[in-house]
Amino acid sequence: MKLIFEKGAPGQHLSLMPPCDVPVVTPKRPRTEPLPLPHVSETELTRHYTALAKRVHGVNDGFYPLGSCTMKYNPKINEDMAALPGFTQVHPLQPEETVQGCMEVYAEAERLLDEITGMDAMTFQPAAGAHGEFTGLLLIKAYHHHRGDTARTKIIVPDSAHGTNPASAVMAGFSVVNIPSAPDGCVDVEALKAAVGPDTAGLMLTNPNTVGIFDKNILEITRIVHEAGGLCYYDGANLNAVMGVVRPGDMGFDVIHLNLHKTFSTPHGGGGPGSGAVGCKEILRPFLPGPVVVKGESGYHFEKPEHSIGRVKDFYGNFTVVVKALTYILTLGKEGIPEAAKNAVLNANYMMKRLKEKYTMAYDEICMHEFVMCLEDLKEETGISAMDIAKGLLDNGIHPPTMYFPLIVHEALMIEPTETESKETLDEACDVFLKLWDLAHTNPQALHDAPVTTPVRRLDEVGAARNPVLRYTTE
Ligand SMILES: *Cc1c(COP(=O)(O)O)cnc(C)c1O
Repeated sequence: MKLIFEKGAPGQHLSLMPPCDVPVVTPKRPRTEPLPLPHVSETELTRHYTALAKRVHGVNDGFYPLGSCTMKYNPKINEDMAALPGFTQVHPLQPEETVQGCMEVYAEAERLLDEITGMDAMTFQPAAGAHGEFTGLLLIKAYHHHRGDTARTKIIVPDSAHGTNPASAVMAGFSVVNIPSAPDGCVDVEALKAAVGPDTAGLMLTNPNTVGIFDKNILEITRIVHEAGGLCYYDGANLNAVMGVVRPGDMGFDVIHLNLHKTFSTPHGGGGPGSGAVGCKEILRPFLPGPVVVKGESGYHFEKPEHSIGRVKDFYGNFTVVVKALTYILTLGKEGIPEAAKNAVLNANYMMKRLKEKYTMAYDEICMHEFVMCLEDLKEETGISAMDIAKGLLDNGIHPPTMYFPLIVHEALMIEPTETESKETLDEACDVFLKLWDLAHTNPQALHDAPVTTPVRRLDEVGAARNPVLRYTTE
């Protein structure tokens, strides 16, 4: 397929802009050559992007069980609300009294998400989950330093953690202490006890964790960290499994990030925009990034918290993502939020039960919203790897699950169906998975060759990661 730069010809253009009716200002250092922009007509432009859209797989195309990403259906009413002119036709530098409605969106979203998570305050500045982790860790750091305790330089992270957790800890200036998981996939409590000490700034934990298990020792875990003087950070990427049912604040966590683009339904997967809202307990409120929305006697105004860590993003975060999250929460309501979580868990367990007929589960017990299969024995028997099964799924119109993650499971496929899939879709997907297992035994070559129906076959993924070509050169 041709790139947009390779299409069209000089002279073709989009005449959407009216002629300039203000004086033309010549810049101090004018460009010496014209910008190498594509010369295409509106028809060509439309066809180009339609062709691109046909070559990808999205939630609106078919089943998309990408574990740990919560690829749920995103209700269209969210888009309608986010597109209201009162939300889109504002400028972040407008006076506060002219954007009271937008400020109320922040205040309401904060109130409801605080209630759902058991937190006391929230910032919507971070642009995604990893950015939220970084922000939350800076809050922990500011808290310790404010008390004059600068010896707490270590963040404890279990080996099942998402890769962003240790990366964020290092970026925030901490060193990382890795602790192993117990055979049941939960935190090894003895290893945690041995790891905490006067240098512990905090613990970062995902619960339910990345193998889809709710840690049965969660209260003991947060108690151990608190008794050692550390704080507890909750990676809320998996909140879809527990929202409205149990609250991280009640589990003993002091700070949490939410991926509004996962749990609270903003389309994602193409790189954004997202929102990594960070909630915290009262003790961390003074350190939140500013400005925050505060309700006063004459309406809402912006305020910088007393010991704010400063800004982590320009202006106030990705506002329309918050509008979508708020719409989603208000549409589902107090009954709908826990029902969504319970259906997510039910769907995952239904699929796990059906796939167990042939596939080996990494942890063979009731799961939360996702589960991990271990294809090591299939590979030994047939030579078919998790990657081959994933490629076979593509030929059947299914987006592959998360592969080779978490690292503690070999030949891992991590499946998260979400609550928005019907039993019929789940059954069809299970039939495909089971059919591919049979194919691995009867005609493994067919799976080595897959995919055959996609626009491109197997790509050089290592090459793409090691030597990415990110710029188009016109010469
Ligand atoms: C997705 C995810 C993150 C990172 O969130 P982004 O919004 O992609 O930055 C962190 N932890 C877990 C467990 C996740 O699934």
